[in-house]
Amino acid sequence: MRNTTRQTRENRTITIDFQDETTYFQVLGDGKAFVELVMAFILAIGFQLKHQATCRGGGCLTRHSHYVRVRLGGIRIWRLQCTRCKAVFTVLPHFVLRYRQMRPEVARDALVAMQGGLSLELCAVIGHLSPMALYRLVCALGQHSLVTVLTRCGLALPPYFLADEKHSRCLTNKVYLPTVVSGRVIWHLGYTEDASAAALTQSYGEFHRAALQQEPAYRVQGILTDGFDSTTKSMRTLFPGVRLGNCLRHALMKLPKKLAAIASPVRQVLRSQFHTLLSRARQRKGLRVFALGQRLRRFADHVAATAGAANGARVRQWFQDKKAGWYAVLEDPRMPVTSTLLDQAHNAIERKLFAMKGFHHPGGSQQAFLRGLAHLYNLVPYQRRAQHVGQCGVEVEGGRVPTRDWFLNLQILTSEGFR
Ligand SMILES: [Zn+2]
Repeated sequence: MRNTTRQTRENRTITIDFQDETTYFQVLGDGKAFVELVMAFILAIGFQLKHQATCRGGGCLTRHSHYVRVRLGGIRIWRLQCTRCKAVFTVLPHFVLRYRQMRPEVARDALVAMQGGLSLELCAVIGHLSPMALYRLVCALGQHSLVTVLTRCGLALPPYFLADEKHSRCLTNKVYLPTVVSGRVIWHLGYTEDASAAALTQSYGEFHRAALQQEPAYRVQGILTDGFDSTTKSMRTLFPGVRLGNCLRHALMKLPKKLAAIASPVRQVLRSQFHTLLSRARQRKGLRVFALGQRLRRFADHVAATAGAANGARVRQWFQDKKAGWYAVLEDPRMPVTSTLLDQAHNAIERKLFAMKGFHHPGGSQQAFLRGLAHLYNLVPYQRRAQHVGQCGVEVEGGRVPTRDWFLNLQILTSEGFR
């Protein structure tokens, strides 16, 4: 047996945009020009290199060694070394994917097609790839933390967010995808096989740990959920004292289910009256929290009068259980009001999962694959006819991306050599 005490070298790969390939091959022979181009690019995107812990950078970078990527037709890859701390950075030119033979433009086209709703298999055929190669590429992207990539884009950790689980299937098993969304970006997309509070706490806890690592002072102000018991329990465990709200749109959808054995028109009228009540509350036109309590009581009385005492009692009990969550939404104007954006994210992810059922094998890396999909959700620009056409979710939320090429952005943002 080999003695496995070999030194584990920290991965410090960086992807650099040399604009076009000929520039890269020109500067390969000129060490000074090469280093200058690399430094200029890093400066332009506002990133910093990950030196050794004791080094502040500021020293010189020198060309250290090169190796040849045989699978890419013998492209020479240079390494740079910091003269102070001796950290070594592997410089990947923009037209090379780490560990992969696939050309970035091929990967980009296949992933855009996938994002547009084509199945993994069809996307692979278009790009003359194997579906498995594409699957592995998404999994490789998913090795990188969502929190790291999003904060690299200049997004602040969300003080308010939406949290909910997508119910899905992996082969015949029921599985759950605990998700944290703020505006148009996914901050966490987990994978659990049961919906217990413990399992959800474990999954959401991964987001919490990553966030604290990024920003030790990170405090969550408010969270909107759909009111599922395990979700709220796990949120209380992870974020003690946080303001927990219940989605108002969800409340509206739930009301008809509380009204049994009445004629459909009566149910519809009640629903529309409840809609008016909630939308006034949403607009916060002078409707204070105590006024909402009063209106909910009156509405329950009204249900009892029009739909019978049993329905009235059921609705009253339901209000009793949920109203604290609705108050929480109304008390703080910064709280999200509905979980619509989270539902949109879930639907987008669900469409991808549906398209690749064949890859839900027991030995697969479901978690990495999902996280890879979440990166794509955040960074692929919206297509024609979309409200924010040409922008990606990160940009809509006020973040910056390094270049105009979303796939190059993904290569740069998931580089391990940046801090
Ligand atoms: Zn250094």
